Amino acid sequence: MKRLRWLPIVLLLFAATLTAAEQLFDLKPVVPGVWAAIAKPQFRVNCNAVVIELDDGLLVVDTHSKPSAARALIEQVKSVSSKPVKFVVNTHFHWDHYQGNQAYLSAWPQGVEIISSEATRESIEHRGIPRVKNEMLEVPREIEHLKADFAQATDASQKAEIEENLRQAESYLGELQAMQLALPTITFDRSLIIHRKSRNVQILWLGKAHTDGDVFVYLPKEKFMATGDVLQGWVPFMGDGYPYDWIKTLEAAEKLDVEYAVGGHGAVMRDKERFHFSEQYLRDLMAETERAYAEGASMAETVKRVSATMIPKYASGMPPTFPQDIVGNIQKAYRVVSGDTN
Ligand SMILES: [Zn+2]
Repeated sequence: MKRLRWLPIVLLLFAATLTAAEQLFDLKPVVPGVWAAIAKPQFRVNCNAVVIELDDGLLVVDTHSKPSAARALIEQVKSVSSKPVKFVVNTHFHWDHYQGNQAYLSAWPQGVEIISSEATRESIEHRGIPRVKNEMLEVPREIEHLKADFAQATDASQKAEIEENLRQAESYLGELQAMQLALPTITFDRSLIIHRKSRNVQILWLGKAHTDGDVFVYLPKEKFMATGDVLQGWVPFMGDGYPYDWIKTLEAAEKLDVEYAVGGHGAVMRDKERFHFSEQYLRDLMAETERAYAEGASMAETVKRVSATMIPKYASGMPPTFPQDIVGNIQKAYRVVSGDTN
């Protein structure tokens, strides 16, 4: 499974005519002065970003997994606005949402403020940074595997594919080794509002969800919301999540007037459809797991039973990896229901 993460990169070979930025993101206008940088699905290590124009500068939501990806987006942003980036928001502490922070500080050394919840800053410092160190041990192992695969490959196209994967892995490792993680410079507990003549930007913590510190970036006038990984188009990753709180947090966010939403992964979302889908997914996941647990089912048995009802019901709204990815969700739900974790 692990090594599959590199395979899609080969698709980039076919995109050789695109610029670096175009290979990584589609920058799409959503409402006037707001762009969604939708990460192209073939690339392993990027999340979406949102660019919001203010009177005196730009605010960017999330910074990807590495400075080179952030730099590529910075170049692309210059084609739609000449204003400097003044604010960066990290929606939560996961590596693919903040590891590019330093690129913004390098591009505008005169001052970019990085905003997050207090909980997210704490987690970047105490959990995010150790994870980068761990990744620095993990990637060389993947490189060794790729080299072994390369030595064994006989087919020319297979060799070319592995070679490209190796190139990407080595350049990512180089970036990890040089990475200077930039921590948020402004934090808050519940909400922080940036007031400008043309628009107000509300940055809101509405409860625990995908992590303990997720924030939404909300533009009330434009009915636009950046939702981080609390609401997005992929199968939710629940490893650091709080499923029961997550449902309540989604309900609270849904009460706001939202017509357009951009999550950390996947396409631009319209209206409240994805809110309903995700809330119901989490409710069913927890209810089905509770039932199996109450009936004395083991974790393995619960995975089997809950998958059997959830997969047919939700597959149409999830990516093709759903049947494998739901396993982690059910295991998490089981640990929560059995009191093993929060
Ligand atoms: Zn995440």
